[in-house]
Amino acid sequence: MAVAADKTALVIGAGIGGLAAAAALAPHFAAIEVLERDRLPEGAASRSGVPHGSQAHAFFLGAQYALCSLLPGFAEDLAASGAVPVDLGLGGVFDFPGIGEFPRRDFGLTFYSASRPLIEAVLRRRVAALANVRIVEGARVEALMTSPDGAAVTGVRHTRPGGGNAERHADLVIDAAGRNGTLSQAMLAETGREPLAETRIGMEIAYTTAIFAKPDAAQPAWQYAYVLAGPPVETRSALILPIEGGRWLATLVGRFGERPPADLAGFLEFARGLRNQVIYEALKNAVPEGRFTRFIVPGSAWRHFERLRAPPRGWLPLGDTICDFNPVYGQGMAIAAQEAAMLRRVLDESAGDLGALPMAFFEALAPIIAAAWSSSVRDLAFPETAGERPADFGERMRFGAALTLLALRDAEVHRLWMEVNQLVQPPTIFLAPEFRARLGAVMAEMAAARA
Ligand SMILES: Cc1cc2nc3c(=O)[nH]c(=O)nc-3n(C[C@H](O)[C@H](O)[C@H](O)COP(=O)(O)OP(=O)(O)OC[C@H]3O[C@@H](n4cnc5c(N)ncnc54)[C@H](O)[C@@H]3O)c2cc1C
Repeated sequence: MAVAADKTALVIGAGIGGLAAAAALAPHFAAIEVLERDRLPEGAASRSGVPHGSQAHAFFLGAQYALCSLLPGFAEDLAASGAVPVDLGLGGVFDFPGIGEFPRRDFGLTFYSASRPLIEAVLRRRVAALANVRIVEGARVEALMTSPDGAAVTGVRHTRPGGGNAERHADLVIDAAGRNGTLSQAMLAETGREPLAETRIGMEIAYTTAIFAKPDAAQPAWQYAYVLAGPPVETRSALILPIEGGRWLATLVGRFGERPPADLAGFLEFARGLRNQVIYEALKNAVPEGRFTRFIVPGSAWRHFERLRAPPRGWLPLGDTICDFNPVYGQGMAIAAQEAAMLRRVLDESAGDLGALPMAFFEALAPIIAAAWSSSVRDLAFPETAGERPADFGERMRFGAALTLLALRDAEVHRLWMEVNQLVQPPTIFLAPEFRARLGAVMAEMAAARA
């Protein structure tokens, strides 16, 4: 039953997080408006509000399952629109530092691979079809509005699609405006709340991406290929994903000031410098379509909204507004979708009490974000990375190395490890006693080999 069926909600941003949030709210609110600064394309096209949209976006099982829970049949819709079904265990070359290529194993798991604009377009179409959701284009939110005592968010001020300004009021405002969380931070400051604590892991990560037509001859025996960087010295990684239209989307990644070239010759030369030649071999005779695009991120940042002593009523942040992860780990869409699925569950359980919503939501979110954040923490293994190393950092790295080796040796551990990476299992499963004992033995073996 709808717990706030007489109430209205506003969502800022029609990215993955905002659209998923609107789907989560739909059974609980009479009317939901999604305010988006961009004019939205009809289909799968890049747009200025998502400047990172042309870069590789791996659509993890964690994203797929969460969106399917909110919008049943979403995966089928994606596939019908051209996304490529990919066998997670059998379909990929996955080259891991210190290990090499993982054996291909049958896990019975399929993920769907597509460009970010296609994923967003299919999600937008599904959300726009919900009877009580309206997407308002060309509406840039300038500020959140609050009650005179600052205890509640009451709406937003935005530019009008046709020009000029407007105010909109609602019982709940979701800030899904993306990286930096500036709208919510400004609102917290204006209402006299404490500055937000933030954990940062600073490492410049530079992407260059191009779409390639697959060469007719000699199709490789894989669907995707991923060569992961290896700290402390190997800073390059690369990825090829199959996307709609029978094409490849190829992304090269450099770190700490190294920016992969945005021309064909330089792109291939960079790929040839990787420890595994799989990407270079695939691309050397392939023809790029369109231009090479670049995007740079300064690392990962977790804004600790959950530590606010008295968050305002009628407001929640979601998606990149809360946390931007190192995109190399492919987690952002999954976490935004899982946060939205969690929002639905918290609303289901809240019995209509919007006042208690922020605290309940933040509490429920903590393990979801912490699980994904543990990948970004691994970046601290590069000596150049800025950020506080946890006291047990060395132990964590040794545990991670032992886990990888065990996954290489044992098919069942391999499957679980892939599921953790895909954000459908929590990393804490490996803290269970039976794994601890086995991992302890591998750690001892690795220590003996180092001695
Ligand atoms: C280079 C790169 C590669 C990535 N690769 C992956 C990957 O492989 N897999 C993965 O899952 N994730 C990946 N991500 C992360 C992913 O893009 C995001 O985490 C995910 O889309 C969730 O974002 P969001 O909806 O919170 O924000 P966004 O996707 O940034 O959407 C924010 C929306 O809000 C709108 N907006 C902003 N300000 C306003 C305003 N004032 N008023 C109205 N509208 C506004 C924007 O126009 C946009 O539509 C990658 C990110 C980057 C940068």
